[in-house]
Amino acid sequence: RRLIQTEESREDLVYEPKIRPKMLSDYIGQEKLKEMLSIYIEAAKKRKQSLDHCLFYGPPGLGKTTISNIIANELGVNCKITSGPAIEKPGEMAAILNSLSEGDVLFVDEIHRLNRQVEEVLYPAMEDFAIDVLLGKESSTRSLRLELPHFTLIGATTRAGLLSAPLRDRFGIISKLEFYKKEELTKIVLRSAKVLSVPIEEDGAKSIAMRSRGTPRLANRLLRRIRDFADVKYEGVITKDVAEESLDLLNVDKLGLDQNDRAYLTAIVDKYSGGPVGLETLAVSLGEDSGTVEDMIEPYLLLQGLIDRTKRGRVATESAYRHLGLVQ
Ligand code: ATP
Repeated sequence: RRLIQTEESREDLVYEPKIRPKMLSDYIGQEKLKEMLSIYIEAAKKRKQSLDHCLFYGPPGLGKTTISNIIANELGVNCKITSGPAIEKPGEMAAILNSLSEGDVLFVDEIHRLNRQVEEVLYPAMEDFAIDVLLGKESSTRSLRLELPHFTLIGATTRAGLLSAPLRDRFGIISKLEFYKKEELTKIVLRSAKVLSVPIEEDGAKSIAMRSRGTPRLANRLLRRIRDFADVKYEGVITKDVAEESLDLLNVDKLGLDQNDRAYLTAIVDKYSGGPVGLETLAVSLGEDSGTVEDMIEPYLLLQGLIDRTKRGRVATESAYRHLGLVQ
């Protein structure tokens, strides 16, 4: 697995409970989302109603799980966590829904991976807070409606377009999580360093932020790696020089790109004369699945203006050539 992969790793799970912000006021960045949520949360509390179902989408590691836990904390309810691929049968979904208490949050990560039958259990659950249970055998089946507590479903996905329309339409709040700005990531690094008692200078935190591809999960992971370098090779404190030297050793370049990102750019430039090249063709030449390329690699390259997506395929921009050192 690549170092700067954005998926969650086992090591993350050990540190997560310590560094994950608990309330909206500790959650850095995503200002518009926070403002909107604080109003909806306040309104739901005032009316003593459950919060509308929320769908959060965007690249991995931007804080979808974190914000869902925060919503539950702010509402003063439990947050039950599951994921699309973990629920195989309609009965399993029904059992989870039935185990919720009034007002609880149910977080479903990778919600686009729920299978059709399981998804269908969610329709009446989300709309009417009920599930329909089929009783009896073929000729005499009857359907029995079971009332559920009023709950809030929070779905997370890398792309909203991956969801079926009937499911998407049942979310009242749909919001995209954006890549974080350097200043926000600097704050996140400083905050995590404080929680983990890692000595760091502001400039060191800035260097980490600059190379974290706008992603808090990466920023936190790089912080932990660089702490190891600082402990072993330097005097323990993460200064700008320590951070930059470690990041170079870790093969994370000035824009935060790793080998996979560079392989992507190099493929367009070398094999396809700068493009346009279709996503499928490009993915095959990288030995990756096209969904992974589209969700994990491309969003940040697009944000940085290194590639363009045209009707005829992907194109490397002049900035990409410059970044690869192919033009001045
Ligand atoms: P995935 O979609 O892969 O589940 P995610 O978007 O749910 O990822 P999280 O697991 O919520 O990402 O966040 C990743 C890490 O970044 C966590 O360590 C979390 O503490 C930290 N983090 C995320 N957002 C923020 C934030 N706004 N402020 C501070 N830390 C954050």
